[in-house]
Amino acid sequence: MTTNIILLGPPGAGKGTQARKLVEERGMVQLSTGDMLRDAQASGSAMGKKVAEVMAAGQLVTDDIVIGLIREKLEQGSEGGFIFDGFPRTLPQADALGELLDGMGAKLDAVIEMQVDDEALVQRITARSTCGDCGEVYNDITKPIPADGKCSNCGGTEFKRRADDNEDSLRQRLMEYYKKTSPLIGYYYAKGQLSSVNGLGEIDAVKAEIAAVLG
Ligand code: AMP
Repeated sequence: MTTNIILLGPPGAGKGTQARKLVEERGMVQLSTGDMLRDAQASGSAMGKKVAEVMAAGQLVTDDIVIGLIREKLEQGSEGGFIFDGFPRTLPQADALGELLDGMGAKLDAVIEMQVDDEALVQRITARSTCGDCGEVYNDITKPIPADGKCSNCGGTEFKRRADDNEDSLRQRLMEYYKKTSPLIGYYYAKGQLSSVNGLGEIDAVKAEIAAVLG
């Protein structure tokens, strides 16, 4: 079955973590515009260079860039459906996504808002690191990197911290979220597509809430 969903929530809400679970268990394709932009930076492309400063400052890159990235991925198709992670982040992006899906004869099945309080976000983000090989997410306090220095998921030994996971940039990212992204909650509510889950629980508890929404 094809299911297309949006995971909506502030930075650190756990969108990426839950998206990875859905990929493993349902064969869906994760479309993270943040990951795509970081890949563009790592590859040294002109676009990557253009967005680097904006991202480091915690601001949003322009709608046309991220919409272009999503359009390309949608064209590749996915049997299990798509998980939009970190996209859309503005109303024009949401409208563009609706048009792109319409154009493919596809639809959004659910928009899942992951609710977390701001203090938890600061704690999660400033303590966050990920495995450089598989992307498994660690937290210095709640889920430290194993003592043997090997990723519990894949055995990788390289761990990364994001350049924008510091308090200054996070404050800016939160501001962008409240100003530009949180209006999407009302937008999708009005369309009858919004479901909310408590993002503060254990990973498996959040996963179960999402599964209940997806049915
Ligand atoms: P994320 O990995 O989703 O936290 O995104 C990291 C950064 O990439 C954000 O702070 C923005 O600078 C940029 N970014 C990611 N997705 C979008 C988007 N949909 N619209 C605009 N900027 C984005």
